[in-house]
Amino acid sequence: MATETKSKGGGDVHIKAGLIWLNGEFVPQEEARVSVLSHALHYGTSVFEGIRAYETPKGPAIFRLDEHVERLFHSAKVLRMEIPFTFDEVKQAIVETVKRNGYKACYIRPLVWMGARTLGVNPLPNNPAEVMVAAWEWGAYLGEEAIKKGAKLITASWARFPAHVMPGKAKAGGNYINSALAKMDALSAGADEALLLDDQGFVAEGSGENIFFVRKGVVYAIEHSVNLMGITRDSVIQIARDLGYEVKEVRATREQLWMADEVFMVGTAAEVTPVSSIDWRPIGTGTAGEITLKIRKAYLEAVTGQRPEYEHWLTYVQ
Ligand SMILES: *Cc1c(COP(=O)(O)O)cnc(C)c1O
Repeated sequence: MATETKSKGGGDVHIKAGLIWLNGEFVPQEEARVSVLSHALHYGTSVFEGIRAYETPKGPAIFRLDEHVERLFHSAKVLRMEIPFTFDEVKQAIVETVKRNGYKACYIRPLVWMGARTLGVNPLPNNPAEVMVAAWEWGAYLGEEAIKKGAKLITASWARFPAHVMPGKAKAGGNYINSALAKMDALSAGADEALLLDDQGFVAEGSGENIFFVRKGVVYAIEHSVNLMGITRDSVIQIARDLGYEVKEVRATREQLWMADEVFMVGTAAEVTPVSSIDWRPIGTGTAGEITLKIRKAYLEAVTGQRPEYEHWLTYVQ
C-alpha cells in the first residue's frame, strides 16, 4: 500500500553521512534540515560537486580538491549565487568533514542552494546562498569481474541540452533533470548507463560521465562542446599521455563509438569504467579493452597515492 511507504520528509534516507557541515557549523545528519519552501527545491537552483577521498599510504587523501572547489565557485557564478564563504573556507570545510567523520575513503558532496526567502522565479533575494558539505563512506570499486564485463550503454531519447538552453558546464541541480530522465530510461531498458547525444546528434556524455574511445591505439576524448568539463576527464587525458598514448579531443557520432576498438566512461563516481556494448552492438571484443584497463589501473594508482608524479593532485587529511 502506498500509505505504508509514505515518506516523512527525509526520514527514509539510507545515506549515513554522520556529521554534516551546514552553513559554517557541524551538525548531526538528523539535524541538518532545510525548509520545504527552499527555492532550490522548487526550481532546481542549486550547484554541487562530487569529490572522492581515497585511502593512501599516508592516510586519506582528497583527489583534486582545488579543481573541484574552483568548479563549485564557477557553477555558482553561472547561477549568480553568492557563496558566503571564501574558497579556502569551503576547502577547509571539505577537509574537516572527512576528518571529523573519521573516514578513510568517502564520497563528498558539497551543495550550494537558493534558500527559502522567496518563491518568486527570481532567486536573487536568496543571496547569499546556503552551503553544506556531506560525506559518506565509499570505499571499494566495482569488483574486477564487473569491470571486465563492462557497462552496457543505450542512446537516450533525451538529448543533452544545447549551450543556449541550459548551462551544461555548471554542475547544477536543475541540469540533472536531463540526466535523471536519461538514466531512468537506460536502467528500465536493461542497460547500465545512458549515452546522451547533443542536439545535433553528436556524442555528448553519459548521465554523469564523460566519454572516451580508442581506435588503432589512439585515445579519443569527446570534446567539451556542451558537456561538463570533467575533472576525471582532464586527469585521464594527462595519464593517457604520460602512458605514451596519443590523445585527441574530437567530436564524434555514435557510430564512431560502435566502430571503436574500446569505449570507456570516466567520472569521479565511475572512475574509469569500460563499456562493453552500446545500443546492443558489442564494442571491440565486447569486454573491457586493454588500453582502457591500463589507463584505469594508472588512474586508481594516482588517486590512492601510489604514483609520485600525481601526488600534487592529492590533499592529505590529517
Ligand atoms: C560531474 C559530471 C561529470 C563528471 O565530472 P568529474 O569532474 O569527472 O566528476 C560528467 N558529466 C556530468 C553531466 C556531470 O555532472
